[in-house]
Amino acid sequence: MERRLSKKIKIGSVTIGGNSPIAVQSMINVPSYDTENSIKQAKKLKKAGCDILRIAIPDINAVKLIDAIKNEVDIPLVADIHFDYKLALEAISAGIDKIRINPGNIGNEEKIKAVAHTCSIRGIPIRIGVNSGSVEKHLLAKYGQATPEAMAESALYNASLLEKYDFDNTVISIKSSDVKATVKACTIIAKQCNYPLHLGITEAGTSKISAIKSSIGIGSLLLNGIGDTIRVSITGDPIEEVETGINILKSLDLYAKGITLISCPTCGRTRINLIKVAKEVEKALKNYPKKLKVAIMGCVVNGPGEAKDADIGITGADGIGIIFKKGKIIKKVPEKQLVKELIKEIKLM
Ligand code: SF4
Repeated sequence: MERRLSKKIKIGSVTIGGNSPIAVQSMINVPSYDTENSIKQAKKLKKAGCDILRIAIPDINAVKLIDAIKNEVDIPLVADIHFDYKLALEAISAGIDKIRINPGNIGNEEKIKAVAHTCSIRGIPIRIGVNSGSVEKHLLAKYGQATPEAMAESALYNASLLEKYDFDNTVISIKSSDVKATVKACTIIAKQCNYPLHLGITEAGTSKISAIKSSIGIGSLLLNGIGDTIRVSITGDPIEEVETGINILKSLDLYAKGITLISCPTCGRTRINLIKVAKEVEKALKNYPKKLKVAIMGCVVNGPGEAKDADIGITGADGIGIIFKKGKIIKKVPEKQLVKELIKEIKLM
């Protein structure tokens, strides 16, 4: 797939855009006044593979979270700010790495100018986040409703408010809870500018349904080379957002590390407890650092053949397991030792 060539933007130590790896984002979901648990969650998210972390800054008290998290966790932080330009300036003073704010909501020109100017001096990017609820009145009047075209035009309009003050360190996101509308709006904006795009389906629901909606929405855009950073939105634990985001990238071969598991659905030919084996292997290799494709197949009929592009795999037979590398059998082991032997072989690779 050919990637859309977007502008490179630096968010703390992470670069997005251009040919940079696609960064996975998430957001702290404990109350902003709960510093201790915010730090705990930030640590867990970083460990799970989160590249960029957003925090809500609803009031001046929340600004202290920036320093508190930065002292404990090495991860670029994004301040989520609505309307109040003073909070944006305070967050910048506190050392934030990126601001998420819509200039169209800030108020008068002087306030927009102050934010653009301060971000310019400090090299802080701004993400413009458009959704169906944020489309300006003049665009709703033009399009009748928040259509994908209206959302794309709203993003460009907000970007132009910053460009007026020579600010173009901008990231754009257009999100809707409607998968098709999100894909269409992002496809439109991708052709109209070279700003990096942050992808996501907003208000996507609880983990299973969000995984489906996000995979279709984010996945189809990525397949067309569109997207520089992603955030899966889940009503639940943000760790799942990161895991789902990473799995979307792995499914498209866009993630540079870790295990990609191929496992068959099992059928009447399966002669070992493959579901248990697959779960054990997945757990044992959760934090494996190297990029590796591992196949867990139920039988020799289709096993090594169907999974021949896997780096290593196992296939079940009657009471035994066969370990293969690149489709070639290397070992036969009793079922009970299968997982242990497979992990041993992987660690030697
Ligand atoms: Fe069935 Fe074998 Fe295919 Fe697994 S690999 S689904 S056991 S035929």
